[in-house]
Amino acid sequence: MDKIIILIGAPGAGKGTQARLLDERRGIPQISTGDMFREMKTLDSPLAREVQEIMASGRLISDEITYRIVRERTSKPDTAGTFVLDGYPRTAVQAEQLEELAKEQGKEIQAIEVDVDRDELTKRLTGRRSCPICGEIYNIYSKPPKVDGFCDEHPEAALDHRADDTEEKVRVRLETYDELTKPLLAYYEGTGRLKKIDGTGEIEDIYREVDELI
Ligand code: AMP
Repeated sequence: MDKIIILIGAPGAGKGTQARLLDERRGIPQISTGDMFREMKTLDSPLAREVQEIMASGRLISDEITYRIVRERTSKPDTAGTFVLDGYPRTAVQAEQLEELAKEQGKEIQAIEVDVDRDELTKRLTGRRSCPICGEIYNIYSKPPKVDGFCDEHPEAALDHRADDTEEKVRVRLETYDELTKPLLAYYEGTGRLKKIDGTGEIEDIYREVDELI
């Protein structure tokens, strides 16, 4: 049976990194609601402006809007089989909506928790910088570029610092995770669909675990 794999973890746990690897190496499409919302930045519509404002504050976009973009994205042909959701569901309502979607598509849900402790998450997020040209991710604490503030490969471009990666916004995002998303773990656990992995350590080691679970 085809699956909807969901990666659950706090912001900065590495869900996006692992989902990207699954996409690249196993051809399992990665669907990231955060990426889709960030792409809306380039649009100039009232909805895009609202989304941008909420994202910059560190809070969540409404369940209704989020479900709309998830439905639309998962109706494309590349998601006819198994796909991985990174950053969705994040609330109890979204989890219910996903059950509906899975039923309609005849798929089973498999949840994987990526666990990382709070101090490490804060460092990962507030230290994160990315190249606007190639997307390479740096971290001022653990993976600094050779020249402060600039990509090693594209020295002409100053590295981006996401508006929601500042200390204050990171606090809001982590609190939002604790309050709204963390309770979903008990729900998936209770229905026998949750596996947990340790999200600290080498990306390749973590990938091996994720790969084995799927
Ligand atoms: P992420 O890149 O996954 O950390 O997402 C960045 C931001 O996009 C979040 O802080 C939210 O504002 C928004 N977002 C992403 N996924 C969701 C979701 N499932 N529900 C509501 N808002 C979301």
